Amino acid sequence: MAITVDMMKKVPVREQAPKERAANFEEVCLGYNEEEARAESERCLNCKNPMCVEGCPVSINIPAFIAKVKTGDDAEAYRIISESSALPAVCGRVCPQETQCEGKCIRGIRGEAVSIGKLERYVADRAKELNIKPEPVAKNGHKVAVIGAGPSGLTCAGDLARLGYEVTIFEALHKAGGVLVYGIPEFRLPKEKVVAREIENVENLGVKIETDVVVGRSVTIEELMEKEGYEAVFVGSGAGLPRFMGIPGEQALGVFSANEYLTRSNLMHAYREDSRTPIYRAKRAVVVGGGNVAMDAARTALRLGAETHIVYRRSEEELPARKEEVGHAKEEGIIFNLLTNPVEITTDPETGWVNGITCIRMQLGEPDASGRRRPEAIEGSEFHVDCDCVIMALGTSPNPLLHKTTDGMEVNKKGGIIVNEDEMTTKEGVFAGGDAVTGAATVILAMGAGKQAAKSIDAYLSAKN
Ligand SMILES: Cc1cc2nc3c(=O)[nH]c(=O)nc-3n(C[C@H](O)[C@H](O)[C@H](O)COP(=O)(O)OP(=O)(O)OC[C@H]3O[C@@H](n4cnc5c(N)ncnc54)[C@H](O)[C@@H]3O)c2cc1C
Repeated sequence: MAITVDMMKKVPVREQAPKERAANFEEVCLGYNEEEARAESERCLNCKNPMCVEGCPVSINIPAFIAKVKTGDDAEAYRIISESSALPAVCGRVCPQETQCEGKCIRGIRGEAVSIGKLERYVADRAKELNIKPEPVAKNGHKVAVIGAGPSGLTCAGDLARLGYEVTIFEALHKAGGVLVYGIPEFRLPKEKVVAREIENVENLGVKIETDVVVGRSVTIEELMEKEGYEAVFVGSGAGLPRFMGIPGEQALGVFSANEYLTRSNLMHAYREDSRTPIYRAKRAVVVGGGNVAMDAARTALRLGAETHIVYRRSEEELPARKEEVGHAKEEGIIFNLLTNPVEITTDPETGWVNGITCIRMQLGEPDASGRRRPEAIEGSEFHVDCDCVIMALGTSPNPLLHKTTDGMEVNKKGGIIVNEDEMTTKEGVFAGGDAVTGAATVILAMGAGKQAAKSIDAYLSAKN
């Protein structure tokens, strides 16, 4: 039966039912099929001055690719997207479209924006079915090293390889992908079906990836440049260092950083029965924080069998997580304790294991430096929640290893690598981008920085040679 399109509303996307998915790690969103994608593409107004493109940090020609979906030319749609993005199947799944491309869509003024993210995902998944692979480009004989195989490093490497550079990515972990493999769970971003395939596409361009190399320990940036002949380096080492609150009890058994908890589950597959990596399966878990990381940790704990609570100090309006993820978490039964802040984690004196968390109610005062209203504690409003697991999802900072082992590469007060407008650091020939510069941000911003750095490295090396 043909789909009737309501021009004011997105064609709904199919999802696993909340009750069913809360007990498995399969992908929640099932994406558009061909018929649904064609129907949704009809809603694009093909604006002469497309605001959606302005809202996209890597400037994908959105109306052009959607026009190709409309005519059924999915291969051409993929080619158009690939001109700007190396990771469309990833971005179609995890980008905060509501504040970027879709946030600027003219359709969104009177009705719902065009479902650009779901269309991007459809095209990228179709390219896999059609077995479209990028061709390697002839090499120009110049070598560039990239540190970190996350979205910024992969994008920078892919763009440089397209320009003919011989690029090697050095990655500390045993698997490439950065947060895409160790942070974001399988139920949002399938690792083999989606992430591995997009990394393979970058490798098909001729990029080499060396895993298990911790730059700063196994080899230094200076050695790469002076002994191994790399003429420029891009640092895309992310922000993987977890932050804690500094409250009593935080060192107790059963308190985890979201990074550790998610890495066990995602990278080491601890959620599977056949994994050798252990993970704590809590009865009642409390996750502290309100970003994407907190939602991912909470939804993972739920799937591992816990009654799961989120504790966040501001109100729903300020939750930094993507709206879709908050909606999914609620549907699955996560309990939100908003305007609430932990003050102490309590432990069983005999075992040293967490037995609860004491929180205080908050209210919102005047806006702070971030523009959001400052949360203030309401005196005397403390209350206690029994729990056997606390997961801290309070944000992360860049790891200081590279800064400490590289002469002349300076960082700011928050540990972010200092770069100029061309993404060059204070050390000549060394460029940086993504979370390593900005602190924890988004996939697409990291990719945008990787793209800019590739252009700047090309300009720098072209002027030098
Ligand atoms: C749980 C979680 C959920 C998220 N959800 C979303 C989301 O839904 N949407 C969104 O847009 N963003 C999301 N983000 C943020 C997003 O994933 C990051 O902003 C993005 O991955 C940053 O990319 P990057 O390339 O800068 O760094 P990363 O992805 O962190 O990659 C850095 C890589 O560098 C490697 N590395 C570090 N140091 C060294 C070294 N010394 N030598 C060699 N390699 C090194 C690391 O192992 C890692 O693989 C999420 C983040 C987390 C943690």
